[in-house]
Amino acid sequence: MAKAWLSLGANMGSPARQVARALQLIGQNQNIRITKKSSLIITSPWGKTDQPDFHNMAIEISTGLSPLQLLDACQHMENIMGRVRGEKWGPRLIDIDIIAFDRIRMHEPRLNLPHHHAHERDFVLVPLREISPDTADWILQIKKPD
Ligand code: AMP
Repeated sequence: MAKAWLSLGANMGSPARQVARALQLIGQNQNIRITKKSSLIITSPWGKTDQPDFHNMAIEISTGLSPLQLLDACQHMENIMGRVRGEKWGPRLIDIDIIAFDRIRMHEPRLNLPHHHAHERDFVLVPLREISPDTADWILQIKKPD
């Protein structure tokens, strides 16, 4: 079993309810077990700032899926929840990102591990630090400029 850390975020409709629904969907996947949950935090939008606040949290999971299979599962859940793929950094019903997958480093067109922007976003790092400070430190360490 691998360990992975996911970031959940929403800022449309009823964000807290959508995050709860995403947790339910993730929990229903037979290949994923949720082992830790951070608090739900409310943060100001990043990138495109004229949109509602976000609700964010991080979870730790144990999974038998490969990284790309996990990405497929996350995208499938986003689609089930009617994620509208629109503007970059725009409003969204739910966003499920893989922050890290074990200590794998991967740079492929569909998947960057750890997540490309994780180290520069407090709404990812703060909840992650709450459930896995070692993973947050590892990400900051490897993303440090030379
Ligand atoms: P976004 O919806 O803005 O989070 O971006 C989703 C896109 O980022 C998808 O096309 C993914 O293939 C790609 N992607 C690259 N790395 C990751 C990652 N670690 N977690 C989730 N999506 C990723």
